[in-house]
Amino acid sequence: MFLEIQQIKKHFGEGESRVDVLRGIDISIEKGEICVLLGPSGSGKSTLLRCATMLETMDSGEIVYLGKKAVWSDENGKLNYADKKDLKEIQSQYGLVFQNFNLLPRQSVLENVALPLLYAGVRKKERLERAKEMLARVGLEERIQFKPTQLSGGQKQRVAIARAMVSQPRLLLADEPTGALDTRSGEQVMELFAQLHSEGVTIVMITHEPEIARHAQRIVTIRDGRLEQGGFGECRTEQEGDAS
Ligand code: ADP
Ligand code: MG
Repeated sequence: MFLEIQQIKKHFGEGESRVDVLRGIDISIEKGEICVLLGPSGSGKSTLLRCATMLETMDSGEIVYLGKKAVWSDENGKLNYADKKDLKEIQSQYGLVFQNFNLLPRQSVLENVALPLLYAGVRKKERLERAKEMLARVGLEERIQFKPTQLSGGQKQRVAIARAMVSQPRLLLADEPTGALDTRSGEQVMELFAQLHSEGVTIVMITHEPEIARHAQRIVTIRDGRLEQGGFGECRTEQEGDAS
């Protein structure tokens, strides 16, 4: 199991404006799968992803990455976090991609992609080499000195994917990665995901578009703060077809 989430609860606001967004979420992500998290706008998909990656605190619950506890509630209901060193290791296991790319506008494409390696303490020469390799893999080797503003949406998202994957995490978490893209660019991003998946990367992808969800092996839907284990996407059917 790559990632195990148990009973995550999270609310925003207090009193009359209190909203219980996550009301006890359980989900396990298996190594090597593509899992799609579907749900209407405002249903808590991004909040769940942010909690799962410890970008946001939660009220209670437990998160385990590759057998290592990242977050857990003790018997008094107090939230505990793994120590800094363990958290850093856990966070190196996954890469993140967002709808709005979150690229640094003043840095070049190459610098954007190399950034996670700077935080990981990789020396400059190797950082730039690895970033270049990753950019070649997403088909942007000729754009490495461009600024993000000089790229199309689809190209920006491919830069963001290169940045997420440059430290070779085995899990890719994507929050509506095609949400800001035209159909063709969205397809290119999905092709890239399929390629990463075939190389062994586990993928969790949020969307509210059923059309994107067909790329999944497994679909779960968030509704009223809880998860409904849904059906299977076309990916699994294709694979089973190949195997027979
Ligand atoms: P989704 O990604 O499914 O569209 P979100 O997780 O972004 O949904 O939001 C779920 C709910 O939580 C929404 O009602 C939203 O208004 C609320 N929410 C999200 N972030 C905050 C915040 N920082 N402060 C207050 N409310 C928030
Ligand atoms: Mg969202």
